[in-house]
Amino acid sequence: MTAFTFQNGLAAEFSRSKPAVPSKLSAFLICPLRYAFETESSPEVVVPRGPFALRGIALHRTVERYFGREVPGGRELQAEFLNYIGEEIARQKEISLTKFAFTQAGIKGILSNEQILSACQLARVILVSHQDKATPNPAVLRMPAMRGGAPALGSEKAVSSEALDMEGRIDLTYKDATDVVHVVDYKSGNVLDSTGVVKESYAIQVAAYAALVSDTLKPSGLVMDLIGPSSNWSGVYDAAMDRAIKELLSKLRTALPKHVKVRTELLAMPGHHCSSCAYRLFCPRYKEYMNPTSRGADDEALPNDVSGTILEARQSGGLITLRILTDKGTKASIAGVPLETYPALHTGQRLRAASLGTFDLAGKTAFPANFYLFRADNPRLSAFEAMMLST
Ligand code: SF4
Repeated sequence: MTAFTFQNGLAAEFSRSKPAVPSKLSAFLICPLRYAFETESSPEVVVPRGPFALRGIALHRTVERYFGREVPGGRELQAEFLNYIGEEIARQKEISLTKFAFTQAGIKGILSNEQILSACQLARVILVSHQDKATPNPAVLRMPAMRGGAPALGSEKAVSSEALDMEGRIDLTYKDATDVVHVVDYKSGNVLDSTGVVKESYAIQVAAYAALVSDTLKPSGLVMDLIGPSSNWSGVYDAAMDRAIKELLSKLRTALPKHVKVRTELLAMPGHHCSSCAYRLFCPRYKEYMNPTSRGADDEALPNDVSGTILEARQSGGLITLRILTDKGTKASIAGVPLETYPALHTGQRLRAASLGTFDLAGKTAFPANFYLFRADNPRLSAFEAMMLST
């Protein structure tokens, strides 16, 4: 049985089957349906995985590969990192835009040199900090040496708690010289926001990991550490934090009871955050935003999402250019649509699209009308998060 049932291409009902997922709890706070989409799969729901997601996966795998071993030279580390990117892309069954750009232009079609170097530098900082010997790197010296031993300590450990009905995989758990247990989560982006405060979603995630460790290890002291390329954060996991996480888990159990079908319309909480929701084309409430008569003041909130009917589909060199009549009654074009990715598009079809790239300059037009997916002139500018559904 799949977690979702669908009607007319939209999720209609959801039944939770999995324990709570720490890395997605912040999504639950924003919108329970988004949490449902992000934690449970269904064959109808396929969302693109962009280069930044791949970079995060490759970073974690590189660290895992060399953890506790001699740290290799820069070239070897980078080669391994790029190897993992290639493996992840090869593993993708669907021809995503990321895979298409990689096939067309190689690694430079999806990531810049700077993006690759910063990921490899972070991998090095993490690895060097966990070598046995001391290191002269001051950023690393802030992290005490790891002292493994207890079963739940170490790198990339899966931890679950029946009492909390939650499970997750923790980047690193170790005991310091004072027997305080540290729960470490590595981030490929900044862990602090522009005001210097720890990002809420990261704090909730690492606190949920700490709750798992607290429940399973019962340590006398517990500290949460977030490690990013340019900033770190640490906080004590205390009784107030423990209460907050347990309250959050209780809300999740109430909103999404296990093995009980819930109407997705009741779970969806639309708002401006929908613009960053990769699942919006499957959401029954999001279509209100795609409907020009109901959006009103929000009309400009998501200018790069469009729905309408295909008037023309022209193909050249494996790329399609679509002309569509939008539901607003305007005409628009979508260029650079890979035939491999969207082989069945034809005139007269209904189309819903999200997160398209646009050639129109912001503020110059009432509604953007010149969209794109793949940018043959500069593949790295392709709209990697874009998706289109036709009916
Ligand atoms: S589109 Fe908005 S309301 Fe729908 S699941 Fe995503 S965040 Fe929730």
